[in-house]
Amino acid sequence: MSAGRERAVQAVADTLSDPALSGIVDLVAWPENDDGRRGVVVMNATGAARLHPGEPDEVLSGRNPVANQDPMAFLPTAAEAADPSPPNERNAYPYAAERLLSLFADPERSPDLVVLHTPRHYFPEHGGHRGEHGSLDVIQSRAPLLLSGPGVTIDGLVAEHARLRDVGPTLAWLAGVDPSPVHGRLSDAHGAPLDGVVLDRFVGRGARWVVGILWDGAHCGDLLEQTAAGRLPNVARLLERGGALTGGAVAEFPSLTLTNHTSILTGAAVGRHGVLSNLFLDRSTGERIDANDATTWHRWPEWARPDVPTIFEQVAWARPDAVTACVNEPADRGATHSTMQLIRQSGMNDGSAALAHLMPDAAASPYLGNRAHLADDYYTWATRADDVGLMQVLGLWESAASAPALTWWASAVTDAGHHAGGPRSPIARDSFADSDRRLGAFLDRLDALGVTDDVVVLLTADHGFEGADPARTGGWDQSLRSTGVALDDVGPGFVYLG
Ligand SMILES: [Zn+2]
Repeated sequence: MSAGRERAVQAVADTLSDPALSGIVDLVAWPENDDGRRGVVVMNATGAARLHPGEPDEVLSGRNPVANQDPMAFLPTAAEAADPSPPNERNAYPYAAERLLSLFADPERSPDLVVLHTPRHYFPEHGGHRGEHGSLDVIQSRAPLLLSGPGVTIDGLVAEHARLRDVGPTLAWLAGVDPSPVHGRLSDAHGAPLDGVVLDRFVGRGARWVVGILWDGAHCGDLLEQTAAGRLPNVARLLERGGALTGGAVAEFPSLTLTNHTSILTGAAVGRHGVLSNLFLDRSTGERIDANDATTWHRWPEWARPDVPTIFEQVAWARPDAVTACVNEPADRGATHSTMQLIRQSGMNDGSAALAHLMPDAAASPYLGNRAHLADDYYTWATRADDVGLMQVLGLWESAASAPALTWWASAVTDAGHHAGGPRSPIARDSFADSDRRLGAFLDRLDALGVTDDVVVLLTADHGFEGADPARTGGWDQSLRSTGVALDDVGPGFVYLG
């Protein structure tokens, strides 16, 4: 970094670390070249620290803003409910150095500095909701991880955690892809090890069919609590035949949707797969990429770096005859059957938005538990999309002969429910119940086909959720302008200089 650039970053960081902003700015972070070693500096009103993966953090002043990096923090779930959306001093930031460094690893797309909202910050003027995610903190980064069926070696709830980037390599391995004998992991297109590892400590091979299910934004703790309380009988059916990690799977940073769908389905960290955020800049083209929208999801292959293969490509290389399916999911390259591929082939520029009129009526959905939620446009859209998703899955699983070797099935209504009300809210819990009913229809199909004992199922999400405080408003735009530094704050929170 040039001296001028360094001064500009420091000026922005100093401004955003003003105690007057500490209610909305959790911390800021930027990359640093320290004697040729790549590191990250984190800073807020209470202090600053320099981070290098695998080494103790170096406190530069005051206290370390990411002093607690325990991925098992706020467990059991009652501990989280007792201190929801905690301030920086009581919060935890798992794998802080590694996750932040990866965000800054893309030469064309990484921001110069990143700003984290406090969990309580409410910013509807920039698209913020009552429930939010995107942060580095443990609760927004904690997705559930449940494994069920033949080969699963955990039983019930176990006090463990994994990473979301482990999910894809695990599914691919279960579907027949072998790790490299050289480095023991699945490989990218150059033979280099992927970041995620195969979770063979929780599951073994042997199932004839592999199914991965993603409930977008499903809050890990509340999913397990609601299941234990008897409100999610079909998740309970899965749990009876396997187990779940109470620490779930830690998302990549930022804990946003398409960034993590991509890490899940490639096993690659953010800086390698290139889908850096929902909204980011590409300096090489000058393009402002809005990756997470019904009108743009189908363009995912334009943004994901081509040298990180998806699990569908991995399976196709290992087993050319195997059929794979990717339902309602943008990160689909190489899948035999794919919803987004149909949309691309239709030539409709508006992607899935153009198909809205073809989707079933939400009010007629047999899986919708509470019609009052149709007052929320996103909940309504997600109900329709998820009904279409289930229709596709049941179509693929019409018979054992037609069933794909690997099925990936993404659903959205849990994200809608958690955005609308935040975790543990009635609408979030109803979104779980709706998804559970769709899951039940699929599990009934497996039972009817007599194949339940031959299918291994993994249930996860792409991030967690925390509740915002509607009284905690305001922004940092004016403060950024006061620095006089020329910059573009995309997101907001992704700061590009110049
Ligand atoms: Zn999401």
